[in-house]
This record gives sequence, structure tokens and C-alpha cells, in this order.
Amino acid sequence: MGSQEVSNVDWQGKHVTVAGLGVSGVPAARALHERGALVTVVNDGDDERSRAQAAELEALGITVRLGDGATLPESTELIVTAPGWKPDKPLFLAAAEADVPVWGDVELAWRLRGPGAAPWLAVTGTNGKTTTVRMLASILEAAGLRTAAVGNIGVSLLDAVLDDEAYDVLAVELSSYQLHWAPSLRAHSGAVLNLAPDHLDWHGSMAGYAADKGRIYEGNSVACVYNAQDGATEDLVREADVEEGCRAIGFTLGTPGPSQLGVVDGILVDRAFVANRQKQAQELAEVGDINPPAPHNIANALAAAALARAFGVQPAAVRDGLRAFHPDAHRIEHVADVAGVTYIDDSKATNTHAAEASLAAYEPIVWIAGGLAKGATFDELVTGAAKRLRGAVLMGADRALIREALARHAPEVPVVDLDRTDTGAMSAAVREAALLARPGDTVLLAPACASMDMFVNYNKRGEAFADAVRELADESA
Ligand code: ADP
Repeated sequence: MGSQEVSNVDWQGKHVTVAGLGVSGVPAARALHERGALVTVVNDGDDERSRAQAAELEALGITVRLGDGATLPESTELIVTAPGWKPDKPLFLAAAEADVPVWGDVELAWRLRGPGAAPWLAVTGTNGKTTTVRMLASILEAAGLRTAAVGNIGVSLLDAVLDDEAYDVLAVELSSYQLHWAPSLRAHSGAVLNLAPDHLDWHGSMAGYAADKGRIYEGNSVACVYNAQDGATEDLVREADVEEGCRAIGFTLGTPGPSQLGVVDGILVDRAFVANRQKQAQELAEVGDINPPAPHNIANALAAAALARAFGVQPAAVRDGLRAFHPDAHRIEHVADVAGVTYIDDSKATNTHAAEASLAAYEPIVWIAGGLAKGATFDELVTGAAKRLRGAVLMGADRALIREALARHAPEVPVVDLDRTDTGAMSAAVREAALLARPGDTVLLAPACASMDMFVNYNKRGEAFADAVRELADESA
């Protein structure tokens, strides 16, 4: 595995500025301080939480500047930033002027890996990252490897690379922000699951967003895994500078061509990592082994399988790993069946691309949607789903946008417009949906919007939905 060289930075006395306290900033500051760097943390906020964090770091001898994330501390030689900080911030403009490099949390973790560190199998994409990384970790475990799902989820990358007990391999989730700030990352193999407009305000443009996602392929040594049904992901592979011998591996929900994984008669098959890919295909698992076997989730499973196979995992472990995998909460989660109607919680569908996937997985659907649209439009989503909709129940700040799209493209679909944002609103929505649904239908919470107008986060929104469904079940029992 060629790309595993570790850069030996001499941290002793190096002036490092850590931009942003919080999930990645505090451990980064500590790790750098422990290595002898002279660390200054700068933070925009000056609230109670940051003051408490600052006090902890100051007790160690780390300098913290609260309420000033814009000024570049004098003699800074390197900035280590929280991934979410926008590239056009004055701090970074000042850094560029002074030729000071900027690393994100992923870059730092990558550079702090020890000798013989575990290779990374990395996953990005607009949707499906967490699910795919968890599937991948489950497959690697089934193969008897010591691994962890890290990155945006669970164990932090820094903790994982600094862990004394060495991992065999890491399943790494990377956001577009993290990739933006990770210039020297070289994964063993990387995958871009799909590409749809998201976070464009941060990246400046779709091209910028795509380019940052595409960074995951840079320097891959074994496989660049792309979605054969999403041409934009294949373009990124073509543009990447990879190691000699690294292969492009596609995944498709259809019959796979050579160097692809795909589906034939309900079986996941591999035509990439077999001896004779012109003539041979290797059975990996059945669609029924995937939980839930919705089309987009089969795609996630294929991507996870491709990365695992690139690492040399045997077919039986792919099957066992997929069988052992259970999705995280609020991701197309089956809540209950009440009066012959199935209730599904996909509260994590916080953008239209995600909602499109779950709307494609059921029929007929009573759709519960709405919330904060974040600048999205709903015409395409509604047009695609129109013929599967039994009805729609809309709630939240931007529900009018969805209502208007329904009026334009699906005028025959009955719509209930809930004009309330109180805590009982979800319960009312579920009741309205139950009235619209007939036995055999699915009531699907797939808001296509963020939740913060009515709920603390998508978890709370999903919990409110599940509570309301259980209430309904109790009453009808
Ligand atoms: P991420 O980590 O990228 O946010 P998750 O695995 O948490 O992705 O899934 C988020 C939501 O995206 C799911 O609830 C589902 O609605 C949708 N989704 C999952 N996988 C895909 C996919 N491959 N394509 C489109 N949408 C998907």
C-alpha cells in the first residue's frame, strides 16, 4: 500500500493557531500542545460553553482568544481549522497573504498517524455517507479485521489515529468541508456515492463543491469507487491524480459491466475483483440481506462492498457484514404498522436529494414533509414522486414551497396544510396522514427540509413522529 508514508513534522516550538473550539478544535489543540507546539486557539464565540473549554485548555498552558476568530495571531506558522469554517473568512485571507498553510481536522489526523498506520477506506457523497461507512465497518469486522467507523461519526479521526491499539483499516466518512481542508490525504481507496447541489454557499459554486468531493480520489492506491449511474462521480475519477495501477470501479443497480459491481436477479455481484472480469462474476450477497432493501440503500451496500473488496475482503464477509448491519435511527426506520398502514421515519432526509431516495422506495405514499428549505426548490422532487403519492401533509416554515410545487405538478394529490409549529404539530400531522392512508399504504416522514424551525434537530423530529405513531397504535389496539 504505497501511499502510507507519514510526514514527520517537528512540532517542538512550532506556532500553531487552532481555529475554532469544539468537537475537533479542543482535541487538536491538546494533541499539538502535547507534541511541543505553541498553540493559540481563536474562536468567534465567547459564550459560557467556550469559556469553560477555554479554561480547560488554558490550564494546560494553551493560549485561547475568545470572541476573535478573524485576526491571525502573530508568528503563526500553521492554522488547524474546524472543518466548518468558510474559506473566505478573513483569517484565511490573512493566512494566504502570509503564506501560512491551513489544515483541517482530517489533514491533522492524517499527518499525526504513526508508523505502520492503518490504511483508510474513505467515503463521501451528498447523501448516504454515514450508512455506507457503517456498512463498510460491519463488513470489515465480519472479515475479522480490527476497524472503526470514523470521521463525521462515532470515534473521532484524531482519536482513531492516536489510539495505541493499532487498527487494521479505518472506514472513514468525509464531508466536503473536511476534504477541502485535507490537501495531502491519500486514501487506500475512496468512494463518491452521488453528487447533488448542497452547501453551495460554503463552497461558492457547484464546481467548487464537486472539486472538494473529488479530492477523496487523489492519490488512491487501489480503487476509486464511483456511481455508474451518476456521471458526475465518474468525471471526478477521471480528473483525479492516482497512484499507478489504481482502478476505477463502478457500482450500479443494474447489471454490472467489467470492473463494476451491480445487481442481477436480486443478487449483488462483483465483476471487478474477480480473476476474469470479462466472463466471470462473483456473487456477494442477496438484496434481502440489506436493511432496508430500498434502491438507494442497495447502492450504499454496493459502494461499501466495492471498498471492502478493494481491501481484499472475501465475498462471505460482505454478506455477513451486510446482514449484521442495522441502520442508524431516523434513516428510513420502520416505526410500526397501524391498521394495515406502514409508518416510516426518514427524518434524516433533510434535503430533496435524500427525500427523493426514500420517496422512490415506497408506493402508495402519504408524505409528511416541510421545515426549512435552505434555498431548495421542490419541482423536480414532486414531479418524480407525483404518481406514488396518496396524499401529503405539510408543516413547517417553508411548507408553502412544497404546496405550490404539488399544485403545479400533482394537482390531484390531496394536501393537508398544517399551519402550526407547536410541539403537538407532529402528532396532528400523523393523525391527518392516517386519515389519508388506506391499508397497504406507507406514511413516510421524509421532510426534504431541515428541522430547526420546529425541532432541536432531525433526531427530535423523528422521535416526535415515532411518539405520535405509537400513540396512534395504542389507541387503535
Ligand atoms: P449522510 O451521512 O451523507 O448524511 P446518511 O447515511 O445519514 O447520509 O443518510 C441520510 C439520508 O439520505 C437518509 O435518510 C436517506 O433519506 C438518504 N440517503 C441515504 N443514502 C442515499 C443514497 N445513496 N442516495 C440518495 N439518498 C440517500
